[in-house]
Amino acid sequence: MTTPPPDAAARRAIAPVICYPNDTVPAPDLNMLRRARRQAAKTGETLVPPRDARCFEVPAGQFFRITSVEGPQVGDLNLWNRANLSERFYSGKTRALHGTHLTSGERMWSSFPALRPMATIVTDTLDWYGKDEFGGAVHDVIGTRCDPYTGNLLSGSQYHHCCHSNLTRSLADHLSIPLEEAEPFVHDVLNVFMCTGFTRDTGQYFMKASPVRPGDYLEFFAEIDLLGSLSACPGGDCSSEHSSDVAACHPLLVEVFAPPSGALEGWESPPVNGYDRSHGA
Ligand SMILES: [Zn+2]
Repeated sequence: MTTPPPDAAARRAIAPVICYPNDTVPAPDLNMLRRARRQAAKTGETLVPPRDARCFEVPAGQFFRITSVEGPQVGDLNLWNRANLSERFYSGKTRALHGTHLTSGERMWSSFPALRPMATIVTDTLDWYGKDEFGGAVHDVIGTRCDPYTGNLLSGSQYHHCCHSNLTRSLADHLSIPLEEAEPFVHDVLNVFMCTGFTRDTGQYFMKASPVRPGDYLEFFAEIDLLGSLSACPGGDCSSEHSSDVAACHPLLVEVFAPPSGALEGWESPPVNGYDRSHGA
């Protein structure tokens, strides 16, 4: 529609600037966390059934691990501050700080006004994957969560086991609150084990079969008291389709580990963000 200006090529040729350089994002002490993890003892586990979700709680200073069991399976993870559900995982800001996919040493950040690390990734057995020839990578913070509203918009369907509904049911069950009260707390997820990217030519969000295999895991350190919910996505390994019962689906295992006292030398649960919230008024 619009004729390019005479300096169009020069404008396109300007080099990009990284919005949030890695060396300015506060970094965790991974060596200390990994030492503490080696001494930690398992305190509990939750098995998430296929096409369903389960909640779990992790006290600040403990670890939780999400493991693929039985077969390749993708998980949609929500995190809340256990004491205040309005503080929850902020996928968009996490993406701005760390990029489109997360791995060891990176964090899941919470919503405004807290904006603090909720969980730090300590170990990722899929860190070898990197970026494939299509631009795909694992554990994204670019997707939202599969949901019944988009399905209804696009095809008129009424499917009840999308991650959005699974997360809503699990939160309602865990807190013994009505579905309508639980649903607004459900938020955009960390897509655990999911392999995604954007097509180079059209910029469209794509998914492909996850490289995850039984035994692979993603392990986190809880920076604050956490309530989590994990949905074993109806997309299974996300090699074909979402929002139906067509794909092969498998359970996911969540385990919690507590380190001995004194193992977290120098660590303190992070305070809420220091901005004074006066907004120039
Ligand atoms: Zn899903």
